[in-house]
Amino acid sequence: MGIRISRTQMPIGFRMGTIALEKLGVEKSQNHEMHVLSEMGVGHPQGCMQDGIMAATSATFGKGLIEKLYYGKEAATFWYPGKGAVRMALKNEFQDKLAPHEFFKYRKKGIEPSKIPDPVRQDIIDIVLNASVDDLFNIKMLPDFVYKPVKGSFAKAKCEVCGEYVFERYLRVKDGKKVCIPCAGHEPAEKGFYYPSYKKD
Ligand SMILES: [Zn+2]
Repeated sequence: MGIRISRTQMPIGFRMGTIALEKLGVEKSQNHEMHVLSEMGVGHPQGCMQDGIMAATSATFGKGLIEKLYYGKEAATFWYPGKGAVRMALKNEFQDKLAPHEFFKYRKKGIEPSKIPDPVRQDIIDIVLNASVDDLFNIKMLPDFVYKPVKGSFAKAKCEVCGEYVFERYLRVKDGKKVCIPCAGHEPAEKGFYYPSYKKD
């Protein structure tokens, strides 16, 4: 890949993203095309798989093109307008095969990836890069997948309590005043998409 990779999951995510592009018959996004719904959560390892996905597809968190579903799974759905959607999940068998690798002995001792000896890192990266698609992923096209992106708007207003600008969709009403979410004491809670169950066929 020509880049220095210190984390194992980066190449897994990179391969996942690259194969998703192939399955959907598209190129890396130039603008806002590809949307990714990552099933990863927080408080577990392998989050950097998402960095690999972003590198491969250009669907970045900053642009709101990758969202987390917090299912705690090493899986993601890739949606491209007019091309459909594909769900990819890292196979249990591959996760089990990788688990005894020396790399994780270092990680479990709390050693950061960049401090692990190069040959150990290179070996595990090579295992991922040389694995067949079939070794790595369960892949399922989702013909009924519907994605409804949030409608974009530039409209904003000043919070009547703190005075800071807020984009309009995040304004709340408290005691008759238009206020921001922290001033309203609300929790942000919204999802901009509909996610069909992938268990049903
Ligand atoms: Zn406020």
